[in-house]
Amino acid sequence: MESRGLVLVVEDETAIADVVRMYLERAGYRVEVVGDGLTALDVVRSRRPAAIVLDVGLPGLDGVEVCRRLRAGGDWTPLVFVTARDDEVDRVVGLELGADDYVTKPFSPRELVARVTGLLRRSARVADEEALVAGLVRLEPAGRRVYVGEDEVHLTATEFDLLAYLLARIGRVVTREQLLTEVWGHASVAGTRTVDVHVAQLRSKLGPASPVRTVRGVGYAAESGPVG
Ligand code: CA
Repeated sequence: MESRGLVLVVEDETAIADVVRMYLERAGYRVEVVGDGLTALDVVRSRRPAAIVLDVGLPGLDGVEVCRRLRAGGDWTPLVFVTARDDEVDRVVGLELGADDYVTKPFSPRELVARVTGLLRRSARVADEEALVAGLVRLEPAGRRVYVGEDEVHLTATEFDLLAYLLARIGRVVTREQLLTEVWGHASVAGTRTVDVHVAQLRSKLGPASPVRTVRGVGYAAESGPVG
């Protein structure tokens, strides 16, 4: 089978890492497993994985800090968090960490593979379409870049896909459920809260130029200019 790319699995529990590796390899991915955060940062730099599966509870540097450092350093590799408890879910979803998705332990390895595949498919889907423009906001699918005026704005893979989905449907109202299905590719357990958090982060990154309007009780719509 042709390789679907390298996935870095950051997990200190060997039994879990072994199962995740087996399922990912069976799905056609190459897999590298590391057991701590500092090594993960090194491997991301040296091996450039297509996606990262990142346990939150790690010895030394935890997963949240690994993600923070990657994003601070301008690395936007698609990333799925593995969380063990509800309070970890809150940390991951509630902070502006640039996490694209998460699963909670105990998770089904099949489900995790589906999340990774969904993430990579979303990254590739809009790759060769024309630029989408709303006022000062310009999204270039080919390079997965977003600009406000002349300034590039760094979005996570999910924020990018969310914006691309809305900009491809300017003026049309999209429900939260539709966004979960079309952008995330699954009905997340966190549900609509996940959508709201990512939209809030997207808006804060776009600032006053944001074309994303809230349609109360329904969902969101992109307009052809700033919505104020
Ligand atoms: Ca752990």
